Order: sequence, then C-alpha cells, then structure tokens
Amino acid sequence: MCSAQQTATVTALFPVRALLLSTPDPQDVPMFCDFIRDALPKEGVNTLVMRINYKYQFESRPELAVHNALSKENLKKILKACKDAGVRFIPKMNLLGHQSDDVTILPLLKNYPQLDEAPHLNPPVPWIPVNTMFDFYSKSVCPRHPDLFKIIFPAIDELIDVCGADAFHAGLDEVWIIADEKCPRCGGADKAEIFAAYVTALNNHLREKGCEMWMWSDRLIDGKTTNLQAWQASMNNTHKAIDIIPKDIMICDWKYEDAAPTPAYFAIKGFNVLACPSNKAAVGLAQLEMVNAIRKNGNRADFSKTISNRMQGMFHTMWGNSRDFILAYYGKGPDKDGTVDTFKKLFSEIRKLKK
Ligand SMILES: [Zn+2]
Repeated sequence: MCSAQQTATVTALFPVRALLLSTPDPQDVPMFCDFIRDALPKEGVNTLVMRINYKYQFESRPELAVHNALSKENLKKILKACKDAGVRFIPKMNLLGHQSDDVTILPLLKNYPQLDEAPHLNPPVPWIPVNTMFDFYSKSVCPRHPDLFKIIFPAIDELIDVCGADAFHAGLDEVWIIADEKCPRCGGADKAEIFAAYVTALNNHLREKGCEMWMWSDRLIDGKTTNLQAWQASMNNTHKAIDIIPKDIMICDWKYEDAAPTPAYFAIKGFNVLACPSNKAAVGLAQLEMVNAIRKNGNRADFSKTISNRMQGMFHTMWGNSRDFILAYYGKGPDKDGTVDTFKKLFSEIRKLKK
C-alpha cells in the first residue's frame, strides 16, 4: 500500500468491520446467502466470522459433526456469497473451553473422552452461570494431552482449506477448567503458562497454514484488578499469559456491559485488537467512539506502526440463531435481545467515518 493510501485509511473506515454469525441450518442457507449479498455490503461489513464449531460435515473427522451440520456444498454456497459481497470469511471453532453446554457434552469430548481436562466435572451439575461462579461452566480439553493436536488439527486444516481462509478464530473464551488439580499432565502447573503454551502452539500451526489467529480477550485480562470479574475477564490466573503469547494474534475484546478501556491495553501490549459489542447499542457506540478517538490521534506520518493503528476496528457479536437475526434485521421477527438494534446503530455510525 502506498503512503497516500495509508494516510487515507487513518480517517476513513476501520480496516476491520466484522460480524459474527452462527452457522445456519441447511434449510436456511439460501436466506443466509441472500443476507450476505444484500445486507453486508450495504452495512459496510467487510468480514464475516462464522461460528462453525462442530456444525460441519468434516471429511477428516466425520465423528465431530453435530445434527444439522453444514455440507461442503452448502459451505461453498456461503463462501461464494461472501466473495460476491466482497466479504472476508473467517471460520471459528472453540478449541479449549466450551466443550459442553448446559446438558450435553459436545462431539470432541464425546468421541475422545481422553482429552477431557476434568472428567469428574460434568453437566448439568454444576451449571451456575452467575458472576460469582468462577470454577465451572463448561468442559475443557486438556491442552497438554498428547493426542489433542492429532485429533483437532485435521479438522482445523480442513476448514481452512475448504474456506481458503487467511484467518481462523480459535475461540478460547470463558475457560473455567484449566490446569485442573486432578489432571495428571496439568495439575499443579501455572495456569497462565499452560494457557500461553497452548495459544502459542495453535498460533504456530495456524501461521504455518498461512492464517492469522483470532481469539477472544477474556482470559488475558485480570478480572480482579479490573473488577471485570469472571466472564469478560479471568479470575483463575490465566491473565499473565498476555506477556508470554505471540503478538501477531488478533484479540477480539468482547465487552457487553460497558466500554471498558481494555482495547487500548491490548494495543499497548502490542496486539491488533477489535472492540466487540453485542446487545446494548449504547455500549457499542461508546466502544466505537473510543476506537475512533484513539485511531484519530495516532501519529499519521507513520501510522501503520502506531499503537493507534493496532485498534483495527469493530466486531459485532451475535450469539443467537442467524435465522432470527436475519428476520429481525428485515423487520420480520422480534429483536429479542437488542443485538440487531446494536448492529444497525453501530454500522450506521461506522459508515459516517467515510466522511
Ligand atoms: Zn491437563
């Protein structure tokens, strides 16, 4: 990019204007593709992250596919829609925590129970999703298990290859179970070191595949000092990993209650970072204001190297069903939690940055 163009991007749109959507059921793929082609260019979204997890018919690991998993043909339809819309597509899988939901153990641990970090902790008990509960919420894999990479890398590589992806979102949020004292490999070890070693190994693999790694921010923030507590930050001492992991990872800093200044923290530490709202428009707009203020105040003569330029943009995160989101977007269904309202207001303001 020439310097004139580089200067122009300082005041123009953010480099990353992303949206997170869930993987549609097979019958909703046409609607999903229409939405990509119609709405995303209009809104100014240039990156779609799709929560695939186990909702894909892996050829390398067919046992990992859940009910209603997407076929390769349907995934290719979505990729074609993204190409038509000029939207970058990034696949996402949860590669550490979130291996169970409130009642079910998900396919990775169901098929490979030896990877379970804590076989003695099982849903539905304890499932206490409140801020005071720091120890358990969903199951995790053991990052030190010798079989882990042999099992997950083929599935990751397959998604990267099918998608032609240049980035991969590895999840890594809300890891309640890590270095469990009963794990024969991790018990007694430092949680931050275990987390950092795993992040580093994943990043090394993704870099070899030509992919930038994206991950959620929460395990890297000290929930006690910041008082951000146990969900959007870490109460189990993983936060020191921020100084150990590679800096070439895109940090997705989700904050849904208020616009905490944590994106700047990651930028100062040397990471590229995205501010991520969800269902409160006022929070999303405050984050946008913060990101924009920091970008505007960068040293424009050499902007690409500044802390300001590490504030790469905004990433709207939607955690419901994509069908409901799309129906609500077109006014054909209720916006139950305000995520569509947040998305529309956020991107309406982002588009004004063009001027
Ligand atoms: Zn372990």
